Amino acid sequence: ASNTDFVLAVEGLTVSFDGFKAVNDLSFYVDKNEIRVIVGPNGAGKTTVLDLICGRTKATEGSIRFRNRELTKMKEHQIVRAGVGRKFQTPSIYGDLTVFENLEISFPRGRSVFGALAFKRDEEVMTRVSEIADMIFLSELLGTRADLLSHGQKQWLEIGMLLIQDPELLMLDEPVAGMSVSERRQTAELLRRITKDRSVIVIEHDMQFVAEIADKVTVLHQGKILAEGSAEEVKKNPKVIEVYLGH
Ligand code: ADP
Repeated sequence: ASNTDFVLAVEGLTVSFDGFKAVNDLSFYVDKNEIRVIVGPNGAGKTTVLDLICGRTKATEGSIRFRNRELTKMKEHQIVRAGVGRKFQTPSIYGDLTVFENLEISFPRGRSVFGALAFKRDEEVMTRVSEIADMIFLSELLGTRADLLSHGQKQWLEIGMLLIQDPELLMLDEPVAGMSVSERRQTAELLRRITKDRSVIVIEHDMQFVAEIADKVTVLHQGKILAEGSAEEVKKNPKVIEVYLGH
């Protein structure tokens, strides 16, 4: 396959912090409809890779192409508008607003909206909010204040607030941390729903969950790829076993 089949093509990506290469000549490719999981011990560079993709950290070298746009040359807000969504670990929901309101305020709005156009737009917003609420298992709770949701439901709402902006690539950092068993199962289902027409990159530590969701796993170690393949393949890889046993 040529590189144009990939949603994301990372090539030779390097970032130095005072001479220390947190990410070192990294290359990987994410397909359309793929769930890619990045694993690796603490300090491997996982968070830094996501920071580089979303423009929070600037690369020292290399390129990040997203649908043929060069992200390393773009600012964080431009990257969001280009279709890359990132969920951070700090919660960004408004606890005193309802589920509906949280989704509604996240809908991207144009600048000049008035008259019939505004009406049409309201309809569009309502349709999108109800589609997304359905997808994130919250359609029965649209009128509920967000701070009354369970931990897992809050995480889904945050994902919904990103989805309503229609990203083509969604990046999630430990999405099931602190979730109950049933919430984990539903989150796996949510990720499958999302990747029907998008791609997802997930940082995850829980290897059981990784095996359940990953199309492909990238194992990072000291800013480089140690192994790449299915969850089964990387778990059997001697280099991966050594790094994990050594920690
Ligand atoms: P992971 O997410 O895999 O635990 P990180 O990407 O957070 O790893 O960090 C990789 C390495 O880069 C670590 O050694 C960390 O201390 C270092 N690092 C990350 N961000 C910075 C920064 N802004 N300045 C200096 N060092 C950093």
